[in-house]
Amino acid sequence: MSRPPLRTPTSAALRLARKAWRLQYRDSHQSIALAEQALTRAQAGADSNAEGWARLVRAFHRMRYATPAAAIEELHAAQRCFDDTADRAGAILAGAGISRCRWREGRYRESLALILPLRDDGLRVLKQEERGMLLNGIAGCYSSLGQSEQAFAYMYQALRESSPARGHGFDVVLYCNLAHELYQLGDYHEALRYLQEGIERCTRLDNPRLLSVLLVNRIVCLTDLDRPQEAMPDVRRVLDIPADAAGRGAKGAAFETLAIAALRAGELALGEQLIERAVQSLGDTTVPDETVELAVAQAESLRIRGATGDAAARLEQALPLPAEGLSLRVRCLFLQVLADVRERQGDPALALASLRDWQRRHVERTQLASRARYQAAALQTELLRLQQELDEIDARQRATERAKLELEAINQQLSQKVSEVQSLQDALKQQAVRDFLTGLFNRRHLNDVLPSMMALAARDRQPLAVAIIDLDHFKRVNDEHGHTVGDLLLAGFGALLAKHLRKSDVACRYGGEEFCLLMPRTDATAARRKVSALLKLWRHSVFATDDGPLSGCTFSAGIADTNTMRESAQALLKCADERLLDAKRLGRSRVLVSDGAVTSPL
Ligand code: GH3
Ligand code: MG
Ligand code: MG
Repeated sequence: MSRPPLRTPTSAALRLARKAWRLQYRDSHQSIALAEQALTRAQAGADSNAEGWARLVRAFHRMRYATPAAAIEELHAAQRCFDDTADRAGAILAGAGISRCRWREGRYRESLALILPLRDDGLRVLKQEERGMLLNGIAGCYSSLGQSEQAFAYMYQALRESSPARGHGFDVVLYCNLAHELYQLGDYHEALRYLQEGIERCTRLDNPRLLSVLLVNRIVCLTDLDRPQEAMPDVRRVLDIPADAAGRGAKGAAFETLAIAALRAGELALGEQLIERAVQSLGDTTVPDETVELAVAQAESLRIRGATGDAAARLEQALPLPAEGLSLRVRCLFLQVLADVRERQGDPALALASLRDWQRRHVERTQLASRARYQAAALQTELLRLQQELDEIDARQRATERAKLELEAINQQLSQKVSEVQSLQDALKQQAVRDFLTGLFNRRHLNDVLPSMMALAARDRQPLAVAIIDLDHFKRVNDEHGHTVGDLLLAGFGALLAKHLRKSDVACRYGGEEFCLLMPRTDATAARRKVSALLKLWRHSVFATDDGPLSGCTFSAGIADTNTMRESAQALLKCADERLLDAKRLGRSRVLVSDGAVTSPL
């Protein structure tokens, strides 16, 4: 079987998979949906590279929303695809994913050992935000190993390398991690500030997992600051997001953390319910913070119920504390609760020992904080700069949009003006050739077109007839019924002509109550028939006036054609006009043609 051809980097499936990858923080739902689509297409087209990226997205999604074990399987499959297609960037990200899975299992040293060797290559071949992800992964390992200084340094580099663009959502991840690191060192107020900012930014994303992590971090801060009541709205908000793949993920659901907050806020029932859920969801977790926090939560609920001995026993079960991988914050929390329970038990010596232990850790924490302060400050400055940059981009975008809208409005006004001018010009053009009252052409137009129509007729060897029509006794209409009725009749006569003439005929208002018709391809005899028919129609036209209906109007007409007169337009018109005068003289209401034929009076 021949090997499938290597895909070009622009295959549709690959584009889809890369889009899914870019969307992972901004819209986790859409991201996974696109990845599934991309995978189907990639497999149908034997497109290994696209398959690798689609699997990579699926794996990171499983890591956050399902289990590390399920993710690792998919990451190995992705790595095989990347090896096949020699995609180094994909392979590094898959490697970083495997490291991250170990981290989520609490195997921090192993995680670091997996990810550190990828650093130099990654910085060379990865894109901006992917470099950020890699460095952030290293930072996470150092953070969990209690090496805050290193953690801050890598976070700082992650920020510088990735310079996250607004919209992708990676900036929110950095806010979240910085806050997490700050409260590990006891800097709760600063942490709260970053969490506030992160939560605000996160509401613009569709990423319930990231939002719940931010909220849990805020719950930790408020509980440790002895303000558990204030944490309760966040507790409820987190609980509103289901702890499953469709919500905030089943792993790392932090029920034990929520339980401590609820217990300290005096909500015993909720606290115990949360402990139950923690026990179920943690199973046989290997994450040190999770196991120790669960022990603290259970001990606190026992203490509240007065079972001090059981509380102490539960805490002692957790001893000795893991030497590595337990955060300083949880270690201190544990020792504090242990000292408290032992004191209540009436065992001051043991209580003092725990307090001493706690004190030692506390000093350690303070020293770590002072060492890491420079790195933390640098990171904070960088984040501030980034925030300003993003805000400026936003402001610029808004200004550009405003300017665009203004420009569009001006353009619209302009094109409206242009079309106004256009229609004004059209109207003027019409007015120049049209008669306002009758809607027919005017005499000027007649003078313009008659010579060329005669020339055309001559060339085609076709006759052209001209009829001049004068309404009879029109003065009388005005005198008897008023000028308005006179106008009405003139307009009516215009309408009659427009209705009954051919398209090729030209009807003009020649003067006051005089009209002229130009009829191409028509000789005088045919024209006489036509005009006589018009006379009949005119006679039967009825007009409503104040004095009742008016009808029986007549006209006289004279006709000439180019068969008998082809000298000039003036001569042709004169011919027709003379016959019109004859018609008047002979008693009106008749049509005479230049060959002398006379219609009988109607
Ligand atoms: P004849 O049968 O001999 O043509 O008689 P006549 O009354 O029609 O002719 P005359 O030339 O004496 O009068 C024409 C009248 O047409 C006079 C004028 O007031 C009227 N007239 C011309 N233009 C208009 C117009 O635009 N509106 C109105 N209402 N009347 C008009
Ligand atoms: Mg007249
Ligand atoms: Mg008249």
